[in-house]
Amino acid sequence: MAQSPQPTPQPRSNVAQIPTYVPGKPPTPRAGLTTYKLSSNENPYPPLPGVVEAATRAAEAMNRYPDMGNTALYDALSANLGVPVEDLAAATGSVALIYQLFNAFCDPGDEVVYAWRSFEAYPIAATAAAATSVQVPVLEDGRHDLDSMAAAVTDRTKVVIVCTPNNPTGPAVTQAELDAFLAKVPPHVLVVVDEAYLEFVRMDDPIDGLATYRAHSNVVLTRTFSKAYGLAGFRVGYAVGPTPLAGALRAVSLPFGVSSVAQAAAIASLASTDALFERVDALVAERSRVMDAVRDAGWELPDAQGNFVWFPLGERTMEFAAAADELGIVVRPFAGVGARVSIGEPEGNDRLITLAQTFPR
Ligand SMILES: *Cc1c(COP(=O)(O)O)cnc(C)c1O
Repeated sequence: MAQSPQPTPQPRSNVAQIPTYVPGKPPTPRAGLTTYKLSSNENPYPPLPGVVEAATRAAEAMNRYPDMGNTALYDALSANLGVPVEDLAAATGSVALIYQLFNAFCDPGDEVVYAWRSFEAYPIAATAAAATSVQVPVLEDGRHDLDSMAAAVTDRTKVVIVCTPNNPTGPAVTQAELDAFLAKVPPHVLVVVDEAYLEFVRMDDPIDGLATYRAHSNVVLTRTFSKAYGLAGFRVGYAVGPTPLAGALRAVSLPFGVSSVAQAAAIASLASTDALFERVDALVAERSRVMDAVRDAGWELPDAQGNFVWFPLGERTMEFAAAADELGIVVRPFAGVGARVSIGEPEGNDRLITLAQTFPR
């Protein structure tokens, strides 16, 4: 008689439901051709002045734990943003803050509302917390459908995320739109404004995140050093929110999460505002150049307010990604939906323009 199999430890049932994060791929090496990674919305510039030196000094003390209280980082952010230290929560990237938000505010089965398609970490973090995702389709032009998102809020809703500019589709929400939305969301529902790309926004009536957080007791901003600041490899982001909410985020954080090297690099980066703005302006200028050329080639793209552009290609997405690869650039395809292409080095951007001009449509 066959022995019945030994029972094995079983994770919670939600764990098997967690979608896989698909990271942007590195380019396929091509002999004699410089290749460009335009698949992860990274910053093509090297670290800001003084950052490598500060990180190197911190690395020399790697036998010590980091400052668990992130004291110097909180002080620098507090001075930089004009917010009290108690209203800040730092973590290993703003992805970690999204996890912490769901863990701190959702019981299993509670609902989190966000646009879709939007940042792919949302469904992963929500499912990991055993929360239920309520995905509200973006409008045809890639913008959030904030009316439908407000209407999707139920008694079970604990968190709503507004991703602005929206990754991967590109458009940003205006302050008037955000204000009208906040007026409809009940005050016990946490509204997260994911501002990962805020430095790149150039539009009328842009969101003033800090003013919005000051005016509402249920608004938390998440921000990151990964994109404009170019520290994606070091994993550091932060939230700004009313003291009790920021306190909850800190309470569920991983002890000693942000490394000493990352803390030092973030602090040094905050001291380089002029160089930061120069680079961001150059990337925004490249974004305009790409958008103009691609639109001149006949494409209808949604507004691009981040450091990336969105090609709504539908069924032809993978074909486009393969054609990009042939040209020595790697894009981030979402099969059956579209391709997101980061603004990178000018030569990489030139290749994207060539692709847009030559891809049969
Ligand atoms: C890149 C990104 C983040 C930030 O990620 P980190 O974990 O800080 O590197 C957050 N939200 C959105 C929408 C993003 O695209």
